[in-house]
Amino acid sequence: MIDFSYSQDDEMFRASLRRFLEKEVAPVAAEAEETGRFPKHLFGRFGEMGYLGIPYPEEVGGMGLGYQTFCLYAEELGKVNSGIAGSLLAQSSIGVQPLFLMGSKEQKERLLAPALRGEKIGAFGLTEPGAGSDAAGITTSAVLKGDRYVLNGTKIFITNATMCDYALVAATTDKKLGIDGIVILVVERGTKGFSTGAPMKKLGNRSSECCEVVLEDCEVPVENRLGPETGGFHTLMKALNCGRMVVAARAVGLAVAAYDAALAYAKDRKQFGKTISSYQLIQSKLARMAVEIDASRALVQRAAWIRDTGGDPALSAAMSKLKATETVVSVTSEAVQILGGYGYMVEFPVERYFRDAKALTIIEGTSEIQQIIIARRLLE
Ligand SMILES: Cc1cc2nc3c(=O)[nH]c(=O)nc-3n(C[C@H](O)[C@H](O)[C@H](O)COP(=O)(O)OP(=O)(O)OC[C@H]3O[C@@H](n4cnc5c(N)ncnc54)[C@H](O)[C@@H]3O)c2cc1C
Repeated sequence: MIDFSYSQDDEMFRASLRRFLEKEVAPVAAEAEETGRFPKHLFGRFGEMGYLGIPYPEEVGGMGLGYQTFCLYAEELGKVNSGIAGSLLAQSSIGVQPLFLMGSKEQKERLLAPALRGEKIGAFGLTEPGAGSDAAGITTSAVLKGDRYVLNGTKIFITNATMCDYALVAATTDKKLGIDGIVILVVERGTKGFSTGAPMKKLGNRSSECCEVVLEDCEVPVENRLGPETGGFHTLMKALNCGRMVVAARAVGLAVAAYDAALAYAKDRKQFGKTISSYQLIQSKLARMAVEIDASRALVQRAAWIRDTGGDPALSAAMSKLKATETVVSVTSEAVQILGGYGYMVEFPVERYFRDAKALTIIEGTSEIQQIIIARRLLE
């Protein structure tokens, strides 16, 4: 039996989350957008509430509520502010996921549990100036010398790196080994040779921060490696599977915010003596927006359900990310259209929604890469 309803527990969770977001995020979001700085204290506030650890088991400091609840949370966050959602969700997904998947007991206690409490901030350093979609093409090197790896290279666009206490850095021990040479090393702030740049200026999601990470003869003890010397690449890809469904859920939330604003405006705005919602061309836009949002959410829920029930979510996560992020780009564009000139002005939130949407078709694997993943699975 397929059940499309949320449980009573989920509805209670959502209601209390909405109150929390209203109290904690709404008052600081405008300033964060203006300054381009993420309100760092939110990590602690969300951590205290347990929200940063929603999908992780209680043994490692999580809430043990699974990915369906995590995606519900991501949607609600995306509705309120996509940038703030981006930083908080990166912390809970890619910022800790490799630690959860491959970390030793000691690494989990030292880094994962404090990160889920919001006491330590993590960053995921995969992308480089010369290697984005081609993640296996990274050139940051990790040379083993005695009991330490010496790291050299540059990472770019790394979310939360401006504020991070540690970065999970992907590096290659030997380019000739291809993906088998990729390791993940935890580099803690304060390590000699590790530095982070200023927040990069972006089109949207301005309340989230990303920057460059530079590793210059940066020495990291072998104990900071996640798992064995080979297999790091597969861990990164597994982390991205979860990250992608969460980006998709955030996209659904942002699309809902844009749709709600457009619907309310259309019911109020009068032209030619009638509300614009009475015109079929506007009704058609609203109808298509609603259908696309519901279809996207259904794909997100399916991916989360597959993950929660022990299946491999790679295909469904890629499908949900492709659909939901392309949807949010079109829905936010239509929302601006429905608001006309006002939609283009910064006093109305749809202008920001439109700018925020675009990043989602790029981060954690572009739309083109999602299509490649999907097609590869279909052709297997
Ligand atoms: C706001 C923001 C936050 C980010 N946060 C992080 C982070 O925390 N950690 C991290 O590691 N990275 C992060 N990234 C980086 C992000 O994951 C990359 O930007 C993304 O993977 C694309 O890589 P690229 O920018 O190098 O583009 P490229 O890979 O150079 O792609 C350029 C274009 O070519 C297309 N393309 C590439 N290969 C193919 C192909 N085989 N077939 C068809 N088309 C192709 C792409 O789809 C794209 O349209 C972030 C990026 C942004 C914008």
